[in-house]
Amino acid sequence: MERNLYESEHAAFRGSVRTFMDRQVAPRHADWEKAGIVDRDVWVEAGKQGLLGFDVPEEYGGGGTRDFRYNAVLDEEIIRVGATGLGFGLHNDIIAPYLLDLGTDEQKQRWLPGFCSGELISAIAMSEPAAGSDLQGLTTHARRDGEGWVLSGSKTFISNGINADLVIVVAKTDPEAEGARGLSLLVVERGMAGFERGRNLEKIGLKAQDTAELFFDEVRVPAHNLLGEENRGFVHLMERLPQERLSIAVAAVAACERMLEITLEYAKGRTAFGRPIGRFQHNRFVLAELATETNVARTYLNECIRQHNQRTFTVSDAAMAKWWTTDLQNKVADACLQLHGGYGYMTEYPISRAWLDSRVQAIYGGTNEIMKEIVGRGLGL
Ligand SMILES: Cc1cc2nc3c(=O)[nH]c(=O)nc-3n(C[C@H](O)[C@H](O)[C@H](O)COP(=O)(O)OP(=O)(O)OC[C@H]3O[C@@H](n4cnc5c(N)ncnc54)[C@H](O)[C@@H]3O)c2cc1C
Repeated sequence: MERNLYESEHAAFRGSVRTFMDRQVAPRHADWEKAGIVDRDVWVEAGKQGLLGFDVPEEYGGGGTRDFRYNAVLDEEIIRVGATGLGFGLHNDIIAPYLLDLGTDEQKQRWLPGFCSGELISAIAMSEPAAGSDLQGLTTHARRDGEGWVLSGSKTFISNGINADLVIVVAKTDPEAEGARGLSLLVVERGMAGFERGRNLEKIGLKAQDTAELFFDEVRVPAHNLLGEENRGFVHLMERLPQERLSIAVAAVAACERMLEITLEYAKGRTAFGRPIGRFQHNRFVLAELATETNVARTYLNECIRQHNQRTFTVSDAAMAKWWTTDLQNKVADACLQLHGGYGYMTEYPISRAWLDSRVQAIYGGTNEIMKEIVGRGLGL
């Protein structure tokens, strides 16, 4: 089906992103997978190409356009080359809105130029060893000390955790407040005394992505590193989660399209019993069904992106898009791997990595069960 979401300027942008991915990323990604982390210089190269901070005003070095289609093009092209280690989606789609919407002028001047040049890599730290889905269980806390705070606690599973220079940390700042109230967003920067990184965690997929534990031992966070309003952290998080979930859905649909493309080619070339395996009716039906569902997902996703640009995309819409597209991604991954037979189980075949990389999509950004809770509550249940 025609992809009528994008206009000529997005097509031109896609061309330059594709060149960047083919030249600067694809040839190096296997090395980054072995290292468990991408080299920082690729961030700086991406900054030079204008791939970081599309919606950041030009005065800070950004693209100056708030149009999520640019974010989506970059996310899709990253998936097209299987470069799942790049944390650009997190930086652009998830962190940028926090700095743009909540940052003071002084904070924007301090952080946004580096954010756009790729010299300042960002992360957001909500999850803790004993609290992921349930933010009410967070124990990382900060107590007032003069003008600033003293932060203590630990976080886990933090994407860009090793490379990050700036981490938005969710901490309890009002110990008396109940549940998820009394949280604030404190920005911790590389080099602050008492801020330590733990292990770069070993994962089954996203091998080139650094996902780390972070520790805060009486870290002195100055007053000017509070992002947004004190004790309003939960509201700030909830307001920005739809874009995070849309970003995950974009990656999910792009992954379905890529896995189908790889598998169609394989099913046409691999023969058994004297014919290409795609010509057996069972396999032809499997591929026909997956192609149909992926097409439905693409059409739906494009409408989600359109609504998000029009500011009519709700928390419930985002939860629907996130669970449905990532469930489909895992279904496509499994069926496509099966169609590869034993070769699908070999890491040298891209479908095996796509299968492993798909799994986490149903878990992070809020698990798919939590997404259904949100949708259900939206139905008044
Ligand atoms: C690779 C990776 C990258 C990540 N990156 C980040 C990051 O950058 N920043 C960050 O803060 N976090 C990050 N996370 C953490 C991620 O968001 C959490 O793992 C996720 O929210 C789930 O939390 P949990 O692991 O504690 O699982 P739990 O909350 O313990 O859930 C365990 C199971 O119980 C289910 N469950 C929990 N509550 C309910 C309920 N009410 N109803 C039904 N089922 C329920 C869940 O769906 C899940 O199946 C990342 C995780 C991974 C794996």
